[in-house]
Amino acid sequence: MKELMLKPVIQHLYLHIPFCAKVCPYCSFYVHGGGVSKQERFVEALVREIQSANVVWDLKTIFIGGGTPSMLSAPLFSRIQEALPPLSSEGEFTLEVNPATVTDKKVEVWKSSGVNRISLGVQSFRDEELKLLGRQHDSLEACQTFRDLRSHGFKNLNIDLIFGLPQQNQSHWRETLEIALSLSPNHISAYQLTYEEDTPFFEKVSQGSIIPNESERQEMFEITEAILQKGNLHRYEISNFSLLGNESKHNQAYWKGSDYLGFGPSAVSTVQHERWTNRADTESYIQEGMRSGVPQREREEITPQIFWKERVMLGLRTREGVLKEHFSHRNESIRTIDQLQKEGLIEERGDSWVLSPQGRLVADSIAQSFF
Ligand code: SF4
Repeated sequence: MKELMLKPVIQHLYLHIPFCAKVCPYCSFYVHGGGVSKQERFVEALVREIQSANVVWDLKTIFIGGGTPSMLSAPLFSRIQEALPPLSSEGEFTLEVNPATVTDKKVEVWKSSGVNRISLGVQSFRDEELKLLGRQHDSLEACQTFRDLRSHGFKNLNIDLIFGLPQQNQSHWRETLEIALSLSPNHISAYQLTYEEDTPFFEKVSQGSIIPNESERQEMFEITEAILQKGNLHRYEISNFSLLGNESKHNQAYWKGSDYLGFGPSAVSTVQHERWTNRADTESYIQEGMRSGVPQREREEITPQIFWKERVMLGLRTREGVLKEHFSHRNESIRTIDQLQKEGLIEERGDSWVLSPQGRLVADSIAQSFF
């Protein structure tokens, strides 16, 4: 008798759109330029990849990111949307939007396509910082875009911000946060700038022409929560703040270790203890997509040890923390927890361990101390 192979049930889907009008000097994602004809060929390959998935869909979240998905024309966006599996009635459909790429026509298509959450890549509300970051919008345009999205009926809006920029001080960061709050967003992601290898910013740090001011960066991190609380935005992950009930369901699924599929060059999928990454090469993605719908992929097994490590690293960054049972059979970890508790870096909350305010300042090194 043939063995019955059950298809995996997928609730979370990510699409990576690799195009950007200009690559920002701090960005380490797989992105590049590309005109309309390349975008059209890419979208056809993406549609093929979506259609070739051999899974049972029960979609709760869709996230279209990149890159700059909002660069795609309204007809190209519709072509993708028509290929998407149905999203559940309570589902979350997020689109990353760059303020410099928005038109009324696109906004109408996003709305009618079921997008119900927009993540607006603002990064800063200070024009000199936007220039330094290589962004193509200014502060006024970002505010106007936010208001336009609201007036088109988008009820769930996130603003993406970055702090810890060269020459940025606390009062500059405070100004950006206050302007963001004045727009009444549902969610703010506030990421600390990291200097990633193979970026122009990293090179400047290596050459000494950018000198990160660590104590200033730490103080910016510390004031963020206090300021955002004034807008009822509560921290639920180290870099993420939201109104109650407006937490990103898609990102929470990643942090909890749920299965998900990722389509597009460089996109990652994790299903049933296996992870694969699509080759980061748009031209070969297009060619393979046209041949078979399936791009080249690198595979890795998610062993119980890797799964555990990821739950600890990601869980500790969240408001819920990590369930105590995750540590119960690991004597070494129990000793680490005792030590962290004595140092005031970790606290007990119900059945879980969570980082203390002090611990949040050094979250990554705390996670490392378990491995
Ligand atoms: S717009 Fe975003 S994705 Fe594109 S290069 Fe800049 S930071 Fe990277």
